[in-house]
Amino acid sequence: METNNATCWVVADPGWGSAVVAAQFAALRGARVRVCAQADSLPQEVLAGKGTVIAMTAAALRRCDWRLLKRCVEAGATVHVSRFEQALEHSLQPFVDGRFRIESRTDIRSFRLCDAATLPQALRGEELPAGGAAAVAVGLNGHCRTLMAAEQGGSRAPALFRLECGAGAVIYDPNSGADETGNPIVERLATPRGILAGTGALVAANLANQRRWQAPTSFNITIDDRPANFDYLGPFRLKALLEHFNAHYPGVHLDLAWTPEHVHVSRRYVDLVRRCGGGFVWHGFHRHVDHRTLADPANELRRGQALVEEIARRFRVQFQKVMVFPYERTSWDLLARLEKAGFIAVTECAAARPEAELGVPPFMRRSIPTHFVPGLGIPVLRRYPVAALNRSTLLALAALGHPIIAMAHPLDLALRRFALGQGPGRALGHFERLLEFASHKGLRPASLEEIASGLPQA
Ligand SMILES: [Zn+2]
Repeated sequence: METNNATCWVVADPGWGSAVVAAQFAALRGARVRVCAQADSLPQEVLAGKGTVIAMTAAALRRCDWRLLKRCVEAGATVHVSRFEQALEHSLQPFVDGRFRIESRTDIRSFRLCDAATLPQALRGEELPAGGAAAVAVGLNGHCRTLMAAEQGGSRAPALFRLECGAGAVIYDPNSGADETGNPIVERLATPRGILAGTGALVAANLANQRRWQAPTSFNITIDDRPANFDYLGPFRLKALLEHFNAHYPGVHLDLAWTPEHVHVSRRYVDLVRRCGGGFVWHGFHRHVDHRTLADPANELRRGQALVEEIARRFRVQFQKVMVFPYERTSWDLLARLEKAGFIAVTECAAARPEAELGVPPFMRRSIPTHFVPGLGIPVLRRYPVAALNRSTLLALAALGHPIIAMAHPLDLALRRFALGQGPGRALGHFERLLEFASHKGLRPASLEEIASGLPQA
Protein backbone atom coordinates (compact mmCIF):
# COMPACT_ATOMS: atom_id res chain seq x y z
CA MET A 1 0.00 0.00 0.00
CA GLU A 2 1.18 3.49 -0.83
CA THR A 3 2.96 5.50 1.86
CA ASN A 4 4.59 8.91 1.70
CA ASN A 5 5.88 11.56 4.05
CA ALA A 6 2.63 13.51 4.12
CA THR A 7 0.61 14.00 7.29
CA CYS A 8 -3.06 14.82 7.53
CA TRP A 9 -4.13 16.56 10.73
CA VAL A 10 -7.84 16.22 11.45
CA VAL A 11 -9.29 18.70 13.89
CA ALA A 12 -11.84 16.84 15.99
CA ASP A 13 -14.22 19.67 16.81
CA PRO A 14 -18.00 19.15 17.02
CA GLY A 15 -19.32 18.04 13.61
CA TRP A 16 -15.89 16.95 12.43
CA GLY A 17 -17.35 13.97 10.53
CA SER A 18 -17.16 16.08 7.36
CA ALA A 19 -13.39 16.44 7.88
CA VAL A 20 -13.03 12.64 7.86
CA VAL A 21 -13.57 12.66 4.09
CA ALA A 22 -10.35 14.63 3.56
CA ALA A 23 -8.51 12.34 5.98
CA GLN A 24 -9.65 9.27 4.03
CA PHE A 25 -8.41 10.62 0.72
CA ALA A 26 -5.11 11.66 2.33
CA ALA A 27 -4.74 8.14 3.78
CA LEU A 28 -5.51 6.63 0.37
CA ARG A 29 -2.63 8.71 -1.01
CA GLY A 30 -0.36 7.34 1.71
CA ALA A 31 -0.45 10.11 4.32
CA ARG A 32 -0.32 9.46 8.05
CA VAL A 33 -3.50 10.65 9.74
CA ARG A 34 -3.30 12.40 13.12
CA VAL A 35 -6.16 13.80 15.15
CA CYS A 36 -6.00 17.07 17.13
CA ALA A 37 -8.49 17.15 19.93
CA GLN A 38 -9.56 20.75 19.26
CA ALA A 39 -8.93 23.61 16.88
CA ASP A 40 -6.78 25.41 19.44
CA SER A 41 -4.50 22.39 19.78
CA LEU A 42 -2.93 22.48 16.30
CA PRO A 43 0.65 21.27 16.85
CA GLN A 44 3.72 23.22 15.76
CA GLU A 45 4.50 20.34 13.35
CA VAL A 46 1.94 21.74 10.92
CA LEU A 47 4.60 24.33 10.11
CA ALA A 48 6.30 21.63 8.04
CA GLY A 49 4.17 23.10 5.26
CA LYS A 50 4.47 20.98 2.13
CA GLY A 51 3.16 17.48 2.61
CA THR A 52 0.69 18.63 5.26
CA VAL A 53 -3.10 18.58 5.00
CA ILE A 54 -5.24 20.09 7.74
CA ALA A 55 -8.84 18.90 7.61
CA MET A 56 -11.19 21.08 9.63
CA THR A 57 -14.71 22.41 9.81
CA ALA A 58 -15.52 26.09 9.23
CA ALA A 59 -16.20 26.38 12.98
CA ALA A 60 -12.75 24.96 13.81
CA LEU A 61 -11.17 27.40 11.35
CA ARG A 62 -12.77 30.30 13.19
CA ARG A 63 -11.40 29.09 16.52
CA CYS A 64 -7.88 27.98 15.68
CA ASP A 65 -4.61 29.90 16.01
CA TRP A 66 -4.83 32.00 12.84
CA ARG A 67 -1.18 33.06 12.85
CA LEU A 68 -0.01 29.46 13.05
CA LEU A 69 -2.47 28.32 10.38
CA LYS A 70 -1.53 31.08 7.95
CA ARG A 71 2.21 30.44 8.38
CA CYS A 72 1.60 26.75 7.77
CA VAL A 73 -0.27 27.41 4.50
CA GLU A 74 2.28 29.98 3.37
CA ALA A 75 4.92 27.26 3.85
CA GLY A 76 3.03 24.95 1.46
CA ALA A 77 0.35 23.14 3.47
CA THR A 78 -3.18 22.51 2.22
CA VAL A 79 -6.21 23.22 4.39
CA HIS A 80 -9.49 21.49 3.60
CA VAL A 81 -12.49 23.29 5.11
CA SER A 82 -15.95 21.72 5.31
CA ARG A 83 -19.30 22.04 7.12
CA PHE A 84 -20.21 25.68 6.63
CA GLU A 85 -23.14 26.99 8.67
CA GLN A 86 -25.66 28.65 6.41
CA ALA A 87 -26.81 31.15 9.00
CA LEU A 88 -23.38 32.78 9.17
CA GLU A 89 -21.27 34.99 7.01
CA HIS A 90 -17.87 33.32 6.58
CA SER A 91 -14.52 35.05 6.37
CA LEU A 92 -11.60 34.29 4.06
CA GLN A 93 -9.33 35.32 6.94
CA PRO A 94 -6.68 34.63 8.04
CA PHE A 95 -5.57 34.18 4.43
CA VAL A 96 -7.02 37.21 2.60
CA ASP A 97 -9.76 39.79 3.10
CA GLY A 98 -13.23 38.82 1.99
CA ARG A 99 -16.48 37.29 3.13
CA PHE A 100 -18.99 34.87 1.64
CA ARG A 101 -22.13 32.96 2.49
CA ILE A 102 -23.08 29.36 1.79
CA GLU A 103 -26.60 28.69 0.52
CA SER A 104 -28.36 25.42 -0.12
CA ARG A 105 -29.98 25.12 -3.53
CA THR A 106 -32.45 22.44 -4.50
CA ASP A 107 -32.95 23.18 -8.19
CA ILE A 108 -29.42 22.47 -9.41
CA ARG A 109 -29.45 20.96 -12.91
CA SER A 110 -25.84 19.89 -13.23
CA PHE A 111 -22.29 20.31 -11.94
CA ARG A 112 -19.39 21.34 -14.06
CA LEU A 113 -15.79 20.77 -13.08
CA CYS A 114 -13.58 23.61 -14.25
CA ASP A 115 -10.55 23.36 -16.46
CA ALA A 116 -8.25 23.96 -13.50
CA ALA A 117 -4.77 22.47 -13.26
CA THR A 118 -5.46 21.66 -9.59
CA LEU A 119 -8.06 19.09 -10.63
CA PRO A 120 -7.11 15.60 -11.83
CA GLN A 121 -6.91 15.71 -15.61
CA ALA A 122 -9.75 13.23 -16.03
CA LEU A 123 -12.18 15.45 -14.10
CA ARG A 124 -11.43 18.71 -15.89
CA GLY A 125 -14.35 19.94 -17.95
CA GLU A 126 -16.56 17.04 -16.79
CA GLU A 127 -20.27 17.84 -16.58
CA LEU A 128 -22.42 15.70 -14.28
CA PRO A 129 -26.14 15.51 -13.62
CA ALA A 130 -27.02 17.06 -10.26
CA GLY A 131 -29.67 14.69 -8.94
CA GLY A 132 -30.45 16.70 -5.80
CA ALA A 133 -29.56 19.68 -3.69
CA ALA A 134 -26.14 21.23 -3.31
CA ALA A 135 -24.47 23.99 -1.34
CA VAL A 136 -23.07 26.95 -3.26
CA ALA A 137 -20.98 29.97 -2.27
CA VAL A 138 -22.28 33.50 -2.75
CA GLY A 139 -20.23 36.72 -2.65
CA LEU A 140 -16.73 35.37 -3.36
CA ASN A 141 -14.11 37.87 -4.43
CA GLY A 142 -11.34 37.61 -7.03
CA HIS A 143 -8.95 35.78 -4.69
CA CYS A 144 -11.03 32.61 -5.03
CA ARG A 145 -10.88 30.15 -7.92
CA THR A 146 -13.90 27.98 -8.63
CA LEU A 147 -13.08 24.29 -9.05
CA MET A 148 -16.66 23.05 -9.47
CA ALA A 149 -19.76 25.05 -10.36
CA ALA A 150 -23.40 24.18 -9.89
CA GLU A 151 -25.65 25.19 -12.75
CA GLN A 152 -29.06 26.54 -12.01
CA GLY A 153 -31.41 28.22 -14.48
CA GLY A 154 -28.64 29.31 -16.83
CA SER A 155 -26.34 30.70 -14.13
CA ARG A 156 -23.48 29.04 -12.31
CA ALA A 157 -22.42 29.26 -8.68
CA PRO A 158 -19.26 27.86 -7.03
CA ALA A 159 -19.83 24.52 -5.30
CA LEU A 160 -16.11 24.00 -4.57
CA PHE A 161 -13.41 26.65 -4.58
CA ARG A 162 -9.80 27.26 -3.78
CA LEU A 163 -7.69 30.06 -2.44
CA GLU A 164 -3.92 30.28 -2.80
CA CYS A 165 -1.79 31.64 -0.01
CA GLY A 166 2.01 31.63 -0.32
CA ALA A 167 3.14 28.15 -1.34
CA GLY A 168 -0.03 26.49 -0.06
CA ALA A 169 -3.76 26.43 -0.72
CA VAL A 170 -7.09 26.33 1.05
CA ILE A 171 -9.89 24.17 -0.36
CA TYR A 172 -13.37 25.35 0.63
CA ASP A 173 -15.64 22.35 0.25
CA PRO A 174 -19.25 23.08 1.28
CA ASN A 175 -20.47 19.77 -0.19
CA SER A 176 -18.07 17.49 1.66
CA GLY A 177 -20.18 15.28 3.90
CA ALA A 178 -19.85 12.31 6.20
CA ASP A 179 -22.75 10.36 4.63
CA GLU A 180 -20.69 7.93 2.61
CA THR A 181 -17.47 7.59 4.58
CA GLY A 182 -18.19 3.87 5.12
CA ASN A 183 -18.18 3.13 1.37
CA PRO A 184 -15.14 2.46 -0.82
CA ILE A 185 -13.78 5.66 -2.37
CA VAL A 186 -13.69 4.16 -5.87
CA GLU A 187 -17.41 3.43 -5.65
CA ARG A 188 -18.19 6.90 -4.35
CA LEU A 189 -16.32 8.53 -7.21
CA ALA A 190 -18.30 6.44 -9.68
CA THR A 191 -21.42 8.54 -8.96
CA PRO A 192 -22.09 12.25 -9.60
CA ARG A 193 -22.97 12.77 -5.90
CA GLY A 194 -19.73 11.09 -4.89
CA ILE A 195 -17.73 13.35 -7.17
CA LEU A 196 -19.51 16.38 -5.72
CA ALA A 197 -18.75 15.22 -2.17
CA GLY A 198 -15.24 13.88 -2.76
CA THR A 199 -13.42 16.07 -5.27
CA GLY A 200 -12.36 18.71 -2.73
CA ALA A 201 -10.85 16.06 -0.46
CA LEU A 202 -9.14 14.40 -3.44
CA VAL A 203 -7.62 17.72 -4.50
CA ALA A 204 -6.35 18.42 -0.96
CA ALA A 205 -4.79 14.95 -0.73
CA ASN A 206 -3.19 15.33 -4.16
CA LEU A 207 -1.71 18.72 -3.32
CA ALA A 208 -0.06 17.23 -0.24
CA ASN A 209 1.32 14.40 -2.32
CA GLN A 210 3.96 16.34 -4.24
CA ARG A 211 1.68 16.71 -7.28
CA ARG A 212 2.66 13.25 -8.52
CA TRP A 213 -0.98 12.79 -9.55
CA GLN A 214 -0.64 15.30 -12.38
CA ALA A 215 0.71 12.69 -14.81
CA PRO A 216 -2.06 11.35 -17.06
CA THR A 217 -3.55 8.02 -16.06
CA SER A 218 -2.06 5.14 -18.03
CA PHE A 219 -4.09 2.41 -19.69
CA ASN A 220 -3.41 -0.97 -21.19
CA ILE A 221 -5.28 -3.72 -22.98
CA THR A 222 -4.18 -7.28 -22.16
CA ILE A 223 -5.38 -10.31 -24.10
CA ASP A 224 -4.80 -13.68 -22.48
CA ASP A 225 -3.95 -17.00 -24.15
CA ARG A 226 -2.26 -15.52 -27.23
CA PRO A 227 -0.33 -16.27 -29.29
CA ALA A 228 -1.26 -19.96 -29.36
CA ASN A 229 0.12 -22.98 -31.19
CA PHE A 230 -1.19 -23.63 -34.70
CA ASP A 231 -3.49 -20.58 -34.73
CA TYR A 232 -3.09 -20.19 -38.49
CA LEU A 233 -6.04 -17.87 -39.04
CA GLY A 234 -5.04 -15.72 -36.08
CA PRO A 235 -3.00 -13.09 -37.94
CA PHE A 236 -5.97 -12.08 -40.11
CA ARG A 237 -8.19 -11.54 -37.11
CA LEU A 238 -5.48 -9.89 -35.07
CA LYS A 239 -4.74 -7.46 -37.90
CA ALA A 240 -8.41 -6.47 -38.10
CA LEU A 241 -8.52 -6.02 -34.32
CA LEU A 242 -5.38 -3.88 -34.24
CA GLU A 243 -6.72 -1.70 -37.05
CA HIS A 244 -9.98 -1.33 -35.16
CA PHE A 245 -8.20 -0.34 -31.94
CA ASN A 246 -5.85 2.09 -33.68
CA ALA A 247 -8.72 3.73 -35.54
CA HIS A 248 -10.19 4.67 -32.15
CA TYR A 249 -6.94 5.43 -30.36
CA PRO A 250 -3.78 5.59 -32.46
CA GLY A 251 -0.89 4.11 -30.54
CA VAL A 252 -3.00 2.07 -28.11
CA HIS A 253 -0.84 -0.46 -26.25
CA LEU A 254 -1.74 -4.13 -26.42
CA ASP A 255 -0.02 -6.80 -24.32
CA LEU A 256 -0.51 -10.49 -25.02
CA ALA A 257 -0.25 -13.06 -22.24
CA TRP A 258 1.76 -15.90 -23.80
CA THR A 259 2.11 -19.36 -22.24
CA PRO A 260 5.78 -20.40 -22.76
CA GLU A 261 5.00 -23.94 -23.92
CA HIS A 262 3.35 -22.41 -27.01
CA VAL A 263 6.42 -22.26 -29.20
CA HIS A 264 4.73 -23.24 -32.50
CA VAL A 265 3.09 -19.91 -33.09
CA SER A 266 2.71 -17.89 -36.24
CA ARG A 267 5.67 -15.61 -36.91
CA ARG A 268 3.32 -13.24 -38.72
CA TYR A 269 1.19 -12.99 -35.60
CA VAL A 270 4.17 -12.08 -33.44
CA ASP A 271 5.46 -9.62 -36.04
CA LEU A 272 2.08 -7.88 -36.16
CA VAL A 273 2.15 -7.32 -32.42
CA ARG A 274 5.75 -6.15 -32.51
CA ARG A 275 5.15 -3.75 -35.39
CA CYS A 276 2.27 -2.08 -33.60
CA GLY A 277 4.43 -1.59 -30.49
CA GLY A 278 2.61 -4.28 -28.51
CA GLY A 279 4.24 -6.51 -25.96
CA PHE A 280 4.23 -9.93 -24.36
CA VAL A 281 3.91 -11.02 -20.75
CA TRP A 282 4.07 -14.44 -19.15
CA HIS A 283 0.90 -16.52 -18.87
CA GLY A 284 2.03 -19.34 -16.60
CA PHE A 285 5.47 -20.57 -15.59
CA HIS A 286 5.50 -23.06 -18.43
CA ARG A 287 2.04 -24.57 -19.02
CA HIS A 288 -1.56 -23.33 -18.88
CA VAL A 289 -2.57 -25.11 -15.66
CA ASP A 290 -3.77 -24.18 -12.21
CA HIS A 291 -0.38 -23.39 -10.66
CA ARG A 292 -1.54 -24.22 -7.13
CA THR A 293 -1.51 -27.88 -8.16
CA LEU A 294 2.09 -27.91 -9.42
CA ALA A 295 4.23 -30.55 -7.71
CA ASP A 296 7.51 -28.82 -8.60
CA PRO A 297 6.95 -25.13 -9.38
CA ALA A 298 10.70 -24.38 -9.37
CA ASN A 299 11.23 -26.85 -12.19
CA GLU A 300 8.19 -25.50 -14.10
CA LEU A 301 9.60 -21.99 -13.92
CA ARG A 302 13.04 -23.20 -15.04
CA ARG A 303 11.51 -24.93 -18.06
CA GLY A 304 9.47 -21.80 -18.82
CA GLN A 305 12.56 -19.62 -18.61
CA ALA A 306 14.37 -21.85 -21.10
CA LEU A 307 11.40 -21.69 -23.50
CA VAL A 308 11.09 -17.92 -23.16
CA GLU A 309 14.79 -17.62 -24.05
CA GLU A 310 14.17 -19.79 -27.10
CA ILE A 311 11.13 -17.67 -28.07
CA ALA A 312 13.24 -14.52 -27.68
CA ARG A 313 15.85 -15.94 -30.07
CA ARG A 314 13.41 -17.25 -32.65
CA PHE A 315 10.96 -14.37 -32.73
CA ARG A 316 13.20 -11.50 -31.58
CA VAL A 317 10.82 -10.48 -28.79
CA GLN A 318 11.37 -9.89 -25.09
CA PHE A 319 8.86 -11.00 -22.50
CA GLN A 320 8.10 -8.38 -19.87
CA LYS A 321 8.82 -9.57 -16.34
CA VAL A 322 5.10 -9.61 -15.61
CA MET A 323 2.95 -12.67 -14.90
CA VAL A 324 -0.72 -13.34 -15.56
CA PHE A 325 -1.43 -16.65 -13.83
CA PRO A 326 -3.62 -19.07 -15.79
CA TYR A 327 -7.18 -18.87 -14.41
CA GLU A 328 -5.72 -16.22 -12.06
CA ARG A 329 -5.16 -19.02 -9.54
CA THR A 330 -2.15 -18.45 -7.39
CA SER A 331 -0.80 -18.52 -3.85
CA TRP A 332 1.47 -16.37 -1.71
CA ASP A 333 4.35 -18.83 -2.24
CA LEU A 334 4.00 -18.66 -6.02
CA LEU A 335 3.96 -14.86 -5.90
CA ALA A 336 7.03 -14.80 -3.65
CA ARG A 337 8.79 -17.19 -6.04
CA LEU A 338 8.21 -14.73 -8.88
CA GLU A 339 9.57 -11.86 -6.81
CA LYS A 340 12.70 -13.89 -6.15
CA ALA A 341 13.02 -14.71 -9.86
CA GLY A 342 13.11 -11.00 -10.74
CA PHE A 343 9.53 -10.48 -11.91
CA ILE A 344 8.30 -6.94 -11.32
CA ALA A 345 4.52 -7.43 -11.23
CA VAL A 346 1.56 -9.77 -11.45
CA THR A 347 -1.89 -8.79 -12.73
CA GLU A 348 -5.18 -10.13 -11.46
CA CYS A 349 -8.83 -9.17 -11.77
CA ALA A 350 -9.78 -6.30 -9.51
CA ALA A 351 -12.33 -8.46 -7.70
CA ALA A 352 -10.06 -11.54 -7.43
CA ARG A 353 -9.18 -11.23 -3.73
CA PRO A 354 -12.29 -10.44 -1.70
CA GLU A 355 -10.63 -11.79 1.47
CA ALA A 356 -7.64 -9.46 1.03
CA GLU A 357 -9.96 -6.44 0.96
CA LEU A 358 -10.77 -7.18 4.60
CA GLY A 359 -7.17 -6.24 5.41
CA VAL A 360 -7.77 -2.58 4.59
CA PRO A 361 -10.34 -0.14 5.99
CA PRO A 362 -13.73 -0.18 4.19
CA PHE A 363 -13.15 3.21 2.51
CA MET A 364 -9.97 1.88 0.89
CA ARG A 365 -11.38 -1.38 -0.45
CA ARG A 366 -10.89 -1.83 -4.20
CA SER A 367 -9.71 1.80 -4.19
CA ILE A 368 -5.94 1.31 -4.25
CA PRO A 369 -4.38 0.43 -7.62
CA THR A 370 -2.91 -2.88 -6.47
CA HIS A 371 -4.20 -5.80 -4.43
CA PHE A 372 -3.33 -5.75 -0.76
CA VAL A 373 -0.86 -8.64 -0.33
CA PRO A 374 1.15 -8.13 2.88
CA GLY A 375 4.79 -9.20 2.78
CA LEU A 376 5.08 -9.24 -1.01
CA GLY A 377 7.60 -6.84 -2.55
CA ILE A 378 6.09 -6.71 -6.05
CA PRO A 379 2.68 -5.27 -6.97
CA VAL A 380 -0.32 -7.37 -7.91
CA LEU A 381 -1.96 -4.95 -10.34
CA ARG A 382 -5.72 -4.80 -10.62
CA ARG A 383 -7.14 -5.45 -14.06
CA TYR A 384 -10.74 -5.33 -15.23
CA PRO A 385 -12.81 -7.40 -17.66
CA VAL A 386 -13.58 -4.87 -20.35
CA ALA A 387 -17.34 -5.27 -19.82
CA ALA A 388 -16.90 -4.05 -16.21
CA LEU A 389 -15.38 -0.77 -17.35
CA ASN A 390 -18.45 1.40 -17.76
CA ARG A 391 -17.90 5.12 -18.06
CA SER A 392 -18.56 5.80 -14.36
CA THR A 393 -15.92 3.28 -13.28
CA LEU A 394 -13.48 4.60 -15.87
CA LEU A 395 -14.00 8.13 -14.57
CA ALA A 396 -13.52 7.07 -10.94
CA LEU A 397 -10.28 5.20 -11.71
CA ALA A 398 -8.93 8.00 -13.89
CA ALA A 399 -9.89 10.64 -11.29
CA LEU A 400 -7.78 8.72 -8.76
CA GLY A 401 -4.97 8.46 -11.31
CA HIS A 402 -5.05 4.67 -11.13
CA PRO A 403 -3.86 2.67 -14.15
CA ILE A 404 -6.70 1.21 -16.18
CA ILE A 405 -5.89 -2.31 -17.33
CA ALA A 406 -8.60 -3.85 -19.48
CA MET A 407 -8.47 -7.56 -20.19
CA ALA A 408 -10.15 -9.88 -22.62
CA HIS A 409 -9.96 -13.46 -23.80
CA PRO A 410 -9.72 -14.46 -27.46
CA LEU A 411 -13.33 -15.63 -27.39
CA ASP A 412 -14.46 -12.11 -26.48
CA LEU A 413 -12.69 -10.81 -29.55
CA ALA A 414 -13.31 -13.64 -32.02
CA LEU A 415 -9.58 -14.31 -32.01
CA ARG A 416 -10.14 -17.99 -31.40
CA ARG A 417 -9.56 -20.81 -33.82
CA PHE A 418 -12.79 -22.04 -35.46
CA ALA A 419 -14.38 -18.67 -34.78
CA LEU A 420 -14.24 -17.74 -38.45
CA GLY A 421 -17.48 -16.12 -39.52
CA GLN A 422 -18.23 -14.89 -36.02
CA GLY A 423 -18.43 -11.15 -35.78
CA PRO A 424 -16.20 -9.38 -33.33
CA GLY A 425 -19.14 -9.33 -30.95
CA ARG A 426 -20.08 -7.01 -28.16
CA ALA A 427 -16.61 -6.93 -26.66
CA LEU A 428 -15.40 -4.64 -29.41
CA GLY A 429 -18.18 -2.25 -28.46
CA HIS A 430 -16.91 -2.31 -24.87
CA PHE A 431 -13.40 -1.59 -26.10
CA GLU A 432 -14.75 1.32 -28.12
CA ARG A 433 -16.10 2.81 -24.91
CA LEU A 434 -12.70 2.45 -23.25
CA LEU A 435 -10.80 3.79 -26.26
CA GLU A 436 -13.16 6.72 -26.66
CA PHE A 437 -12.75 7.59 -22.97
CA ALA A 438 -8.96 7.20 -23.19
CA SER A 439 -8.83 9.46 -26.22
CA HIS A 440 -11.17 12.09 -24.71
CA LYS A 441 -9.30 12.19 -21.41
CA GLY A 442 -5.80 11.93 -22.85
CA LEU A 443 -4.94 8.68 -21.06
CA ARG A 444 -1.45 7.39 -21.78
CA PRO A 445 -1.01 3.97 -23.43
CA ALA A 446 1.49 1.89 -21.45
CA SER A 447 2.83 -1.64 -21.21
CA LEU A 448 2.21 -3.57 -18.00
CA GLU A 449 5.90 -3.25 -17.18
CA GLU A 450 5.71 0.55 -17.57
CA ILE A 451 2.62 0.66 -15.38
CA ALA A 452 4.31 -1.40 -12.67
CA SER A 453 7.42 0.79 -12.78
CA GLY A 454 5.37 3.97 -12.52
CA LEU A 455 3.54 2.98 -9.34
CA PRO A 456 4.41 4.82 -6.13
CA GLN A 457 6.80 2.87 -3.95
CA ALA A 458 5.11 0.91 -1.19
ZN1 LIG B 1 -5.50 -18.26 -19.92
